[in-house]
Amino acid sequence: MPSLDVKRFYIRGLILKETCPICGKECTVDMGHEYLSYPDFNNPKKPVTVNFWCQSPECDDTESFEATYDLKITMEKWHE
Ligand SMILES: [Zn+2]
Repeated sequence: MPSLDVKRFYIRGLILKETCPICGKECTVDMGHEYLSYPDFNNPKKPVTVNFWCQSPECDDTESFEATYDLKITMEKWHE
């Protein structure tokens, strides 16, 4: 199954949002700053995992949780 031969795979402009399971606040991860390492893609059986750190007053940047994603990459013929 395909994986990207990229140690630090950034996706500029993509901000992931998830709800903290502890306090219920919305957390974000900017994929232009965080990266995926050699991620699998186009493989519904192998998700990629992203770690979220919650910065709400309750969690105070000490609580983290994971979310999993299906990374899909396509290349399509350019047509003007
Ligand atoms: Zn939280």
